[in-house]
Amino acid sequence: MTATIIDGKAFAARVRGQVAEHVSRLAEENGIQPGLAVVLVGADPASEVYVKSKGKMTVEVGMHSVEHRLADDTAEGDLLALIATLNADPKIHGILVQLPLPAHLNSELVINSIDPAKDVDGFHISNVGLLGTGQKSMVPCTPLGCLMMLRDHHGDLSGMNAVVVGRSNIVGKPMAQLLLGDSCTVTIAHSRTKDLKAVCQGADILVAAVGRAEMITGDYVKPGATVIDVGINRIERDGKKKLVGDAEFASCAAVAGAITPVPGGVGPMTIACLLANTLTACCRANGLAEPQ
Ligand code: NDP
Repeated sequence: MTATIIDGKAFAARVRGQVAEHVSRLAEENGIQPGLAVVLVGADPASEVYVKSKGKMTVEVGMHSVEHRLADDTAEGDLLALIATLNADPKIHGILVQLPLPAHLNSELVINSIDPAKDVDGFHISNVGLLGTGQKSMVPCTPLGCLMMLRDHHGDLSGMNAVVVGRSNIVGKPMAQLLLGDSCTVTIAHSRTKDLKAVCQGADILVAAVGRAEMITGDYVKPGATVIDVGINRIERDGKKKLVGDAEFASCAAVAGAITPVPGGVGPMTIACLLANTLTACCRANGLAEPQ
């Protein structure tokens, strides 16, 4: 193995530490405590795990944490009414509705009912538009975490060829926008891309966000490239449950210059960025300087 392992777990702990310091200064100097509300509808096991760890880490950095757990069959009107209450609550600066929502709920309508200033997931159409036009917005947490790791590893990304495999609204597209914002030459690949391997082989930065366990193998990777593996796939191998990425770690690490592991790469950064976004939203709401 030749690649440098980009330690997202350690990086995320640093980010959370910086957030905690800022939160404590806000309390001392301004008497303000940032607040995050997480809304979970139904009992999806993976979502339960995410919501629990989000709540725990929110409290750990000194923020006010609120969880709303609603039944699987919650009516859309009731969910929208809860969001309206949270929009109006001055103690709440960030609102996150855990996706996916049960099928009877219109996710777009629900997400777009969140006050864009409190939309710490960055999925509201206003924030999507602001990001797309290079204006100040709330940036989706997972791509933001990837960008932070890339900037930390490379410094200036300007002029690098970046290939993002995946074009979802929550990962692929905002990731591509962020890389473009940092002056990369960006290609977005997806399930209809012709000769994906050749496209990937041109990447200095290869972001795998496909949702297919270990699909990106070492032969997709240009020697020395940086591989950011967004994937979280639960598989069973040799009778054991295992968490793997969308990139096959061993073969990619043998070729890449740097790679994020799964677990311990992008995942921890996502929650750290959620907390950073909540802090940013709180500072903006109170007319205070934003964290850098
Ligand atoms: P989606 O399923 O919404 O999107 C997957 C994308 O991959 C689609 O654009 C799809 O193309 C593309 N794709 C699927 N198969 C292929 C293929 N064979 N070749 C090329 N492209 C393909 O997934 P998400 O964006 O929500 O998530 C992607 C991954 O990231 C998942 O593993 C998910 O678990 C993980 N994730 C991790 C997070 C974290 O915190 N670390 C947070 C969010 C997601 P098309 O559009 O043409 O169908």
